[in-house]
Amino acid sequence: MNHLSCNVCAAPLAHTLYESEGTHSLTSLCQVRPGVTRVYACVRCAHHQTEEMADSAAFYESDYDILVHSEEEDQIYEVKPDGTQVYRTAHQLKVLLDKLPLPPGTRILDYGCAKSAMMKSLLSQRSDLQPHLFDVSARYIPFWEKFIEPGRWAVYETPAAWQDHFDVVTSFFSMEHMVRPEESIRKMAAMLKPGGAAYCIVPNAATNVADFIVLDHVNHFSTPSLQYLLQGAGLVVESIDDAAHRGAFVVVARRAIEPEQATLPAEFPQQVQDWLTRFQDMASFWSNAAERVRSQEAQLPPDAEVAIYGAGFYGAFVVSCLKEPQRVICHLDQNIYLQGRELNGRPILPPAQLPAHIRHVWVGLNPAHARRIIAQVEALLARPLSFLFLE
Ligand SMILES: [Zn+2]
Repeated sequence: MNHLSCNVCAAPLAHTLYESEGTHSLTSLCQVRPGVTRVYACVRCAHHQTEEMADSAAFYESDYDILVHSEEEDQIYEVKPDGTQVYRTAHQLKVLLDKLPLPPGTRILDYGCAKSAMMKSLLSQRSDLQPHLFDVSARYIPFWEKFIEPGRWAVYETPAAWQDHFDVVTSFFSMEHMVRPEESIRKMAAMLKPGGAAYCIVPNAATNVADFIVLDHVNHFSTPSLQYLLQGAGLVVESIDDAAHRGAFVVVARRAIEPEQATLPAEFPQQVQDWLTRFQDMASFWSNAAERVRSQEAQLPPDAEVAIYGAGFYGAFVVSCLKEPQRVICHLDQNIYLQGRELNGRPILPPAQLPAHIRHVWVGLNPAHARRIIAQVEALLARPLSFLFLE
């Protein structure tokens, strides 16, 4: 029995949409942790919510090692047809500057910023801006000290002097982790000057289906639940863009100059219904995916060693499904920051270093892009390989 209520609209969450098999789940950093992933659907606002990890505070303080290995470490956003790699920070910066004109002197706060590669690269292009940083963990201070002066960052609590203070408050991939997003967005709104802009990026589980089952993403937003959340915090939604950043929503909302009584759009109930259906499909996909991997495994030659293409979430998921995970000898990945490291004890190699005796490669990539990406990996095309896809 649960007494959960929706993080966005407070409606009771009675309906379990998805429950993972087994006793372990994967985090967004591909760590295997004890616990079952349960996702609930809110029928009022189409927010979807994963039951919070029992030890989430300890997780963020000590185990949430996102990209802390080096200053420059980053995630690949896309590999262009000519082989050029575009990293996530560079893409996010381009989208931000496209969407928000930032006049000289703009005071900008990155809320829940982690090491804030974003503000660091923004500052490298725009030294006229005044960036500030906030996070709930002190572990990123060594990164901040290198590019922001003391007094422009805070941990745990934001200073009273930051109320009504900022032209822009940003949140890059942090609201999905927040147990009380409604409280956080209100705080963000209160730190904006009237007319100031909240700029948020959150995963869109409909186009990045891994988001649906990661244990540490408490919130899975939909356009109606974002609308509800922002409006409830006194923000006026300007745009919710699902195309500017693949797999994510890019949201721009402004603090109202005059507080007003906002109403939800007339099409809101229909949008809620549409999103509930999309999430139902995601739940079916994941419920079937583990079974699909195991039936592919059953058809492999006995004792065949295999490789996994992808050292991210989908790659870790494939391994977690296998009856005989010891047959996986390596991951392949084009991300130079991952190459040479390990994922759950297996080496991560550039595709060209796939050992010669391997004949079977599981493709651990977002199914929406997997076939296109594999077709472009020249190092593998001439090899006698059979590729196993999640879908
Ligand atoms: Zn709700």
